Amino acid sequence: MAVMMQKTVVLYPSLGVGHLNPMVELAKLFLHRGHAVIIAVVNPPDKDAVSADAVARLAAANPAITFRLLPAPSSSDEEEHFSSPILKTIDVLRRANAELRELLRALPAVDALVVNMFCVDALDVTADLAIPAYFLYASAVGDLAIMFHLPYYYPAAPSSFKDMGTTPLHFPGVPPIRALDMSTTMLDRESDIAKERLRQYTRMPEARGFLANSFDWLESRALEALRHGVCTPGRSTPPVYCIGPLVLPAQTSGERHPCLQWLDAQPERSVVFLCFGSLGTFSAAQLGEVARGLEKSGHRFLWVVRNPPEHKDESVLEASLPEGFLEKTADRGFVVKNWAPQAEVLQHGAVGAFVTHCGWNSVLEGIVSGVPMICWPLYAEQRMNKVHVVEEMKVGVAMEGYEKEIVKAEEVEAKVRLVMASEEGNKLRKRLSVAKKMAADALKKGGSSDMAFEEFLRDLEKCSSDYKKTM
Ligand code: UDP
Repeated sequence: MAVMMQKTVVLYPSLGVGHLNPMVELAKLFLHRGHAVIIAVVNPPDKDAVSADAVARLAAANPAITFRLLPAPSSSDEEEHFSSPILKTIDVLRRANAELRELLRALPAVDALVVNMFCVDALDVTADLAIPAYFLYASAVGDLAIMFHLPYYYPAAPSSFKDMGTTPLHFPGVPPIRALDMSTTMLDRESDIAKERLRQYTRMPEARGFLANSFDWLESRALEALRHGVCTPGRSTPPVYCIGPLVLPAQTSGERHPCLQWLDAQPERSVVFLCFGSLGTFSAAQLGEVARGLEKSGHRFLWVVRNPPEHKDESVLEASLPEGFLEKTADRGFVVKNWAPQAEVLQHGAVGAFVTHCGWNSVLEGIVSGVPMICWPLYAEQRMNKVHVVEEMKVGVAMEGYEKEIVKAEEVEAKVRLVMASEEGNKLRKRLSVAKKMAADALKKGGSSDMAFEEFLRDLEKCSSDYKKTM
């Protein structure tokens, strides 16, 4: 049997803790197989992005991983003019190429660079240095199939997706997607952000491979389409290795959050959990509709609520909820301000349904916990994820009103009742228990994700002969 030499892999995430966390989980897989990992993080001046503090915290928690903080590139004249924070991120990362190049050249050996989406221009550096480049794709493989195909589809579409409403779009490997459900950045094809993303998608197949945070069983159709090359006609599609679900481990030390203690006292599968990612907020009017819907449903609930964006004052939160709501539901509801330990909440046996914005991490956390989802997408690629979850994976139902101005209390009530207490809800639960088992099996030794990672490592081994490092 061939002996695999220890490799040194540099992981290069985009700005923001949300991009850093999946890289840390990936680093653990490399370490587990005896490889050395360096995570290189650009430390931008922007306080909202990854800060030195976040890196220091992660470094302390993961002493086997080497973290390297790359200095922020000097500010550019264009910065003020970007119409989207994504454009700014891509620009910062593009200008950080000089620092990245210096780091890679200074290291005694680099066997691969793993980047994520917004670091697409790092491909210039890896091409120069003859280092194999891979992407870590931390969203649905279904989205990846769409992205690979968009450069073919987009220019020929009759108009911008924003003007095509409910027209179904057909992409290989995924169910038909209504134009209005496409990623928000791609809705207006005349916009700078859409043009930039199209450039990104066109470059992505230059990578040697993609590591995807998903698992074969969950997205077999999209995976097949990618493997058969139908997403990028006339051009080869890089291999996609599904190595997930990689989800942050539930916290096991420290004080338990009061909401977990509250859950301890609730009957099995009796609670609806509502949580909308790290950024999701609702207007005061929408909060009122959700509250009325929950109240009318009669079911228990745990609701993570943030202040409506139009109000900074924290006291407005109570005022935004219908009068007497908190008192009337005190015996069966628990409202948490801003943040709850979602992964642990979902793992708690008392939770019976998850109202989610369909961020990919949330979707995976729902699946590994076996909890049916009520999909209420808000921004980015979440509407596409809703389509995958509802139409393809069949592990959730849609809160249809998301595409209107407001989701009405009646729909909140109806969807909660449907999932918690109906034949359709039972069907969903059965499907989820299968999905949960398949997710666990994928990660086991010999499971599809374990094997995919091994296959990727074999490719890395092969790279040693394919690439000659020019340093
Ligand atoms: N999360 C959490 N508590 C909250 C809100 C979010 O623990 O109150 C976590 C959630 O478990 C997930 C991540 O934050 O791991 C959100 O990632 P996702 O991809 O779902 O959505 P995003 O925040 O990127 O929109």
